[in-house]
Amino acid sequence: MISRIDLRGDALPEGSALRDLLPRAEFDVEAALEKVRPICEDVRHHGAAAVIDYGEKFDGVRLERLRVPAEAIARALAELDPAVRAALEESIRRARLVHRDQRRTTHTTQVVPGGTVTEKWIPVDRVGLYVPGGRAVYPSSVVMNVVPAQEAGVEGIAVSSPPQKEFGGLPHPTILAACALLGVDEVYAAGGAQAIAMFAYGTASTADEPGCEPVNLVTGPGNIFVAAAKRLLKGRIGIDAEAGPTEIAVLADSTADPVHVAADLISQAEHDPMAASVLVTDSPELAEAVEAELKAQVAVARHVEDRIAPALAGKQSAIVLVTDLEDGLKVVDAYGAEHLEIQTADAAALADRVRNAGAVFVGPWAPVSLGDYCAGSNHVLPTGGCACHSSGLSVQSFLRGVHIVDYTRDALADVAHHVVTLAEAEDLPAHGAAIKARFGWKVPESK
Ligand code: NAD
Repeated sequence: MISRIDLRGDALPEGSALRDLLPRAEFDVEAALEKVRPICEDVRHHGAAAVIDYGEKFDGVRLERLRVPAEAIARALAELDPAVRAALEESIRRARLVHRDQRRTTHTTQVVPGGTVTEKWIPVDRVGLYVPGGRAVYPSSVVMNVVPAQEAGVEGIAVSSPPQKEFGGLPHPTILAACALLGVDEVYAAGGAQAIAMFAYGTASTADEPGCEPVNLVTGPGNIFVAAAKRLLKGRIGIDAEAGPTEIAVLADSTADPVHVAADLISQAEHDPMAASVLVTDSPELAEAVEAELKAQVAVARHVEDRIAPALAGKQSAIVLVTDLEDGLKVVDAYGAEHLEIQTADAAALADRVRNAGAVFVGPWAPVSLGDYCAGSNHVLPTGGCACHSSGLSVQSFLRGVHIVDYTRDALADVAHHVVTLAEAEDLPAHGAAIKARFGWKVPESK
């Protein structure tokens, strides 16, 4: 059901040699790029018509229009199960608490008397938020995308999610209801690469409906085609980190409860056959017990054939045995999981030393499922090892820091000779001339 990698004994290799020993999905975003390139080109040249064609091809439903009517969004909220509404409202409340605290303040540094640099944080004008909806539907991803964008002060927010055949081509009603709860009324029924291209290139207005204005930034998780389209269109649009098929790594010792560990590994395998579930432990007894629990729990789980079983059996999932927790820490750092749980005797101390993870879940009472929905933290997190250079979605993702440079004549005069010297050293004399022109074509004496 799940393979084993035994790293006990010899000293662990460092860096990429260690990474090469660890499980990783075989999927290749580079290969998916070749599949999504023609889709994106089609959308660029044929707009909404191409998005509708690909919806028919991949989602099995032909739409008349991409923009979800306001009445459908209102109806979805009116018909939402009250328990789901209460849960979404609590998820939104907690996410707001955390993301509101992430807001940046303007900061001015006085470099010299009369010379200041102010860093001002300005939200992007318009974002396209992708909410997955292929194998599973993710109203929680509406919350995780929209709340930080709103807290950052973004004014133009558009959401897109795949059309669902059983709902007449609309995105899933719970997704629409989550949009309504958050006050988002610009929603499109488009999925995959075609949705990302729609956001990047925009679509023309027709007599029937307004087009989708191009956005500045696209965020949100998705499958390999979504990740590939974001990578392809990066530059035309800004993107967040690649948040592809989900990953969980659990660093556990003999004090961990195998029932919890197995349940948590399965909880992420449930997303996608490409999802990765990795246990790193110094306890062979725990490894045995977790394996037995996996068998028992998978036997009564849903989504086994299409997602859980292939995810656990895939090359991307494994139980990794290490000599001790110090080696365990090296392994999880080399892996750089999207979600890292620490289930050890002194979990907080170990968690404090982790360097590479999208989010860290400390101890037995902070499972990844809590973070997926209601911890207040964001669940759009970097995957595929990107946690070593990227962060999960946050208010910061939607802001640009702009430097405002304000110098008086005296402050410029005082540093002019350095500017001219550096300009000459770079063989860019016009740069120096731009300074001299302000002082009668001479370099002012410094004080
Ligand atoms: P999705 O919405 O990402 O993808 C569905 C779309 O994929 C379809 O609309 C279709 O257009 C496109 N598609 C399907 N087959 C295709 C093909 N052969 N060629 C081109 N396009 C094709 O939904 P999903 O598939 O359920 O994937 C959601 C993913 O999001 C899962 O892998 C899940 O693990 C991940 N996820 C990640 C995070 C994170 O933060 N990392 C959070 C939530 C979900």
